[in-house]
Amino acid sequence: MADRTQTGRSPDRSLLSRGLSAGPIGILGGTFDPIHHGHLRLAEEVADALGFVQVRIIPARIPPHRATPSVTSAHRLEMVRLACSGNPRFQVDERECLRDGPSYTVDTLTELRAELGDEQPLCLLMGVDAYQALTTWSRWEQLFALSHIIIAQRPGFELDAGQLPATLAREHLARRTRESADLRREPRGRVLAMDIPPLEISATAIRAALREGRSARYLLPDAVLDYIDRNRLYKDFDAG
Ligand code: ATP
Repeated sequence: MADRTQTGRSPDRSLLSRGLSAGPIGILGGTFDPIHHGHLRLAEEVADALGFVQVRIIPARIPPHRATPSVTSAHRLEMVRLACSGNPRFQVDERECLRDGPSYTVDTLTELRAELGDEQPLCLLMGVDAYQALTTWSRWEQLFALSHIIIAQRPGFELDAGQLPATLAREHLARRTRESADLRREPRGRVLAMDIPPLEISATAIRAALREGRSARYLLPDAVLDYIDRNRLYKDFDAG
């Protein structure tokens, strides 16, 4: 079946094949240790609601602001590939796995902006938990000059501008919009918060289940779970 945007239009494949789209392109970075249905539904829900024809899924090789991942970037990249195969709108982007040094999102967005052009609307997707910690990201203020930011609900985290660090709260209040049309009209610089159906799934809880021999089935795609079993991942460590 052809994939369709929320408006029912089929995406233009000639544009897609060149990495271009009639609408915004979504970007979801993460550790994906491992990728799970919380990540996948986040990307799919936002893509549908905002009419993206493409979402770039970008695993980080060395996430700068969290613990070292439990498994190699090669394994995490392969799991992301398995999870995204069959979804023509998801494009796995391996650039951060190939780059030396910490995987800074600002560097990735700078590259994408150069490749896709100044006018292409880009939307960086993240859960509320990631947005709350944005000021810890390298050169975080520059992110707004490169893309929009879409903040998705995540169980256990509440978006409250009053609780954000003052510097981020200022940017948030100046840039926030409820109008998805703003994300097409402008290529960058707006912040939009979205309610998505909550899925209380976390990679941390999945790793704990696997470590303790409990089932993680239905929290992540079967193909990813099979890969984890085959490669005996998440068995012999006690990382949190
Ligand atoms: P952990 O569960 O161990 O905290 P994580 O899944 O949050 O890990 P990442 O793989 O880096 O770690 O997450 C990538 C992005 O996906 C982040 O922006 C995060 O907020 C978001 N995300 C992860 N799980 C969910 C979920 N269940 N619902 C909404 N967003 C999520």
